[in-house]
Amino acid sequence: MREKILSFELFPPKSEKGFSDLKKAVGKLNEKEVAFFSCTYGAGGSTQETTFATVDWLRSQKINTAPHLTCIGNTIKETINILNRYKKQGIERIVALRGDRPSGSGVSSGDMSHANELVKLIREEFGSHFHIEVAAYPEMHPQASSFENDIENFKRKIEAGANSAITQYFYSKDAYSRFVDQCTSLDINVPIVPGIMPITNFHNLKRFSATCGAEIPRWICKRLESFGDDVESIKQFGEEVVSELCDHLLSDDAPGLHFYTMNKSAPTLALWNNLNL
Ligand code: FAD
Repeated sequence: MREKILSFELFPPKSEKGFSDLKKAVGKLNEKEVAFFSCTYGAGGSTQETTFATVDWLRSQKINTAPHLTCIGNTIKETINILNRYKKQGIERIVALRGDRPSGSGVSSGDMSHANELVKLIREEFGSHFHIEVAAYPEMHPQASSFENDIENFKRKIEAGANSAITQYFYSKDAYSRFVDQCTSLDINVPIVPGIMPITNFHNLKRFSATCGAEIPRWICKRLESFGDDVESIKQFGEEVVSELCDHLLSDDAPGLHFYTMNKSAPTLALWNNLNL
């Protein structure tokens, strides 16, 4: 088996308690061998400072860190300043995104409109210093006019200099394999690493999935609904379904797995152990 690219995603915590929970979770997750921990970033600056604080702490622990960076709402100057800060911290990998403008925030649109412009800027200003990850959507980005158009736009990011991609989470392995096949037919040959979302809280997952371009298949929805408030059954079923998905993906030669940890160690580690990673 080729060496897999494994990674964990965190989000910047909103409180002191959240930060201390994150540190505990990272302590456990960091016992596993992963390529990097990534940390999300709120478009329009909503979590900018907490992203920096989280990245600072991860670097103080000598953890390979890949900060996410969104371009919407930021000027080119602000973006370059942030990248310089990261470069000084020894960071060599960035997840480059457009982001979504927070609704009703009055945040200006900034100097860039799409992620391909951010990738281009990073390459122009920093050469090959950063390994650039971009987002991919096996079930299509929710604002895309068509699947074909979305893949063409994905290709723009690769042509601008992205090295690899992380997908939005999905629960249909066919959606992923078709997406990868279509990319290959368009000569997009970078690793496209599946994003894996553990299932622990059905209501939150349903709400989030409705907005982000990820579909929960009907059969999974129906089974999860049938458990009502039985949290243990939801977790157990979720673990089975997602472990099976990961197993299929790895057997089908997916280049790795990127776990959306939601700042918790147990659900991701349960999958990890089931997969004997
Ligand atoms: P783009 O690649 O710019 O695509 C956005 C839309 O515009 C698509 O519909 C695309 O088809 C279209 N498009 C792209 N380029 C062009 C072009 N040149 N001309 C015309 N149309 C174009 N959000 C955050 O706020 N913070 C995060 O940290 C964060 N992390 C994420 C991590 C991953 C792995 C993923 C999958 C998503 C993440 N998001 C994050 C969400 C992401 O910001 C949103 O999905 C956003 O709507 C699109 O970002 P993008 O980088 O994919 O944008």
